[in-house]
Amino acid sequence: MTLLRLRTLSKTFEREPVLDAVSLDVEEGSILCLLGPSGCGKTTLLRIIAGLEIPDTGTVYFDDRDMATVAPHLRNFGMMFQEFALFPHKNVLGNITFGLKMQKRPRREIRARAKEMLSLVGLEGYARRNVSELSGGERQRVALARTLAPNPRLVLLDEPLGALDKALRERLLLEMRDILKKVGVTTIFVTHDQTEAFAIADTVVVMDRGRIEQTDTPENLYAHPATASVALFLGFHNLVRGRIEAAGTMSTDLGILRLAEHGVPTGRDVMALIRPDGARIREASDQPDEGKTIISGVVKNCLFKGRNYHLELQTGTGQVLAFDISNESRPADPGQLIELILSPEAVVVMTDSLVEPFT
Ligand code: ATP
Repeated sequence: MTLLRLRTLSKTFEREPVLDAVSLDVEEGSILCLLGPSGCGKTTLLRIIAGLEIPDTGTVYFDDRDMATVAPHLRNFGMMFQEFALFPHKNVLGNITFGLKMQKRPRREIRARAKEMLSLVGLEGYARRNVSELSGGERQRVALARTLAPNPRLVLLDEPLGALDKALRERLLLEMRDILKKVGVTTIFVTHDQTEAFAIADTVVVMDRGRIEQTDTPENLYAHPATASVALFLGFHNLVRGRIEAAGTMSTDLGILRLAEHGVPTGRDVMALIRPDGARIREASDQPDEGKTIISGVVKNCLFKGRNYHLELQTGTGQVLAFDISNESRPADPGQLIELILSPEAVVVMTDSLVEPFT
């Protein structure tokens, strides 16, 4: 069931458009990640959902109700931001029960809920601890417990792990996903870090310059970036322009690329992403294979990276493509002319012709 529906939300700050007709459905119980570079409008979108910012146009529907006239504190949404400032003068219990006390819940219910929350985040026995005595990870768990205690119908998390170091972030991310899934609460998580988004989300929404570029599962997003800007944001740089010649081929300056199913009409100008993990070096013993693409070029670099070789190939057009070649393949030396074989799945067709990358 769709719990939250955003329809054509737009927002301008000081005549600069920050959100441009954003529409999105969020399914009940799912964790959705807003992913995009700094300044693309993620926080503004979250603040509009929370009611802290008013859109210029568009509507937020929650449970089919237009939220325009519902004040932020009456929405029953839980929020946690990067600084997630705990109340320093309150102990762990005081922090966790704060929202419940504001709601004037019965004392017995508050006590029971606090106990439940402490156990949920693995902090039994910490109730009386001063928050200044906690580690960064423990503090973050208290903040999550505080957010979840009033039983919100929607949780909004804005870079909640941003202030922590990388190793701790990775561990807490998995814990956080576990906790959110155990509770079953619908969550929107904002991040500019794709590994964070992939680890925690059921659905990832990639934003760029106030627009939604792609909404997909982490797996599909990684396998099939829909636009060149998404591909670049995900760290894929092997982009080639061309035209769909026939259903299974695309003509480019590098030659003909053989494609898997793509659904793009013949004659259309497109961009293709050549996946860095989709190539192998052609051996002398390899039989010609009509269904596959051959790309030739001069090796610029071939670095051993443990599981694979990172190979940079300078093609005849001067474009340098980078590949991760299995370490079972024979390594190539700089200056050597080689041919790479690409399977059709290694070439992803995208229907835009973006020039400007993400900034
Ligand atoms: P970050 O990851 O850096 O937080 P973001 O994707 O969350 O970025 P927003 O915080 O939504 O982006 O900001 C989008 C743009 O809107 C930025 O250029 C920001 O400077 C601008 N902006 C946000 N809030 C305001 C405001 N209240 N007044 C003026 N400009 C604002």
